[in-house]
Amino acid sequence: MPPPVHRKLDFSGTSNLEEQSAPRLSVVVPCFNEQESLLELYRRLAGACRTCVEESFELVLIDDGSTDGTWAGITALATKTSQVVGVKLSRNHGHQLALSAGLSIARGALILIIDADLQDPPELLPQMIRLIEEGADVVYGQRTVRHGESALKRATAAVFYRLLDQLTDVKIPVDTGDFRLMTRRALDVLIAMPEQHRFIRGMVSWIGFRQLPLAYERQERFAGETKYPFSKMLRLAIDAVTSFSTRPLRLASFFGFGFGLLGLVGLVYTLGSWLRGYAVPGWTSITSIFLLMGSAQMFVLGIIGEYLGRLYMEAKGRPLYVIESVVREAVPAIDATTPRVDRARA
Ligand code: UDP
Ligand code: MG
Repeated sequence: MPPPVHRKLDFSGTSNLEEQSAPRLSVVVPCFNEQESLLELYRRLAGACRTCVEESFELVLIDDGSTDGTWAGITALATKTSQVVGVKLSRNHGHQLALSAGLSIARGALILIIDADLQDPPELLPQMIRLIEEGADVVYGQRTVRHGESALKRATAAVFYRLLDQLTDVKIPVDTGDFRLMTRRALDVLIAMPEQHRFIRGMVSWIGFRQLPLAYERQERFAGETKYPFSKMLRLAIDAVTSFSTRPLRLASFFGFGFGLLGLVGLVYTLGSWLRGYAVPGWTSITSIFLLMGSAQMFVLGIIGEYLGRLYMEAKGRPLYVIESVVREAVPAIDATTPRVDRARA
């Protein structure tokens, strides 16, 4: 490992910040039906931030179209506390887009991404900042143990991260979520990436610079149920693979080659049988070849469809999300009358 570059944190002179008013640290938290966690989240996050940067922090809480009292809870916090910025999306856009919306609003010189359910301990912040001071641009939490998650979730996650590692050229560290601390220059690169289907932990890896892991034990949810049912996890997994690899598209060629070889063997056998005048029986083999070929073709077509569909969605160039309102410092800064639509800030 190269020797650490002991960098004194200069939080002021970074790019793209509204000078002076920019806090030293922004914490970005996507929230979807997390009303029970909000107060505890605020208490623990604010505590962790204060030990590191005193009062120079902001907590950007994004309500991703919740149907419970999450937005009411966020506005109550934002009107009481100058450090809380509430962001309301126009509907449920999904975790990765809610996160993107929050990141586009965060103004800090350092940015922490964390979930609302307190599965990732905010108390790791001092250790993360220390690694940034030693020269890292990204410090990502790497889970050693996952408490309170079903065996199915743990097993699928373990398989997924290893499969992704095999498929992609970008090194995406295994067993990480979006829990990470990054510098403004890393975030500026991330924000400039315009893609619709966002697998943010992979996109952060793609940026490069010096990225260091911090091992931790993932805790149980503070309250409520997971907002990632199997279907959403599967969608995220397919987004991850298609965003970072075109290798599945090559499956068609491999299948073509494999079945071509089998076909050749079949042809030799068929011709041999015909020459020996023994050509009538063969229902079983014909049916099985037919079924095998049919399903292989459908499978490959499906893969091509996944990429084509994503290409289609990208081609539309729609905004990534719609921000309905932003509430900060006791007054609503932007109101619902003119919803703000954002593509990634390029
Ligand atoms: N989340 C969100 N929009 C969604 C689903 C989830 O903003 O459509 C948020 C959720 O509130 C939480 C984070 O994303 O803060 C991670 O979700 P969750 O904890 O349910 O995922 P898990 O930890 O079970 O994988
Ligand atoms: Mg969680």
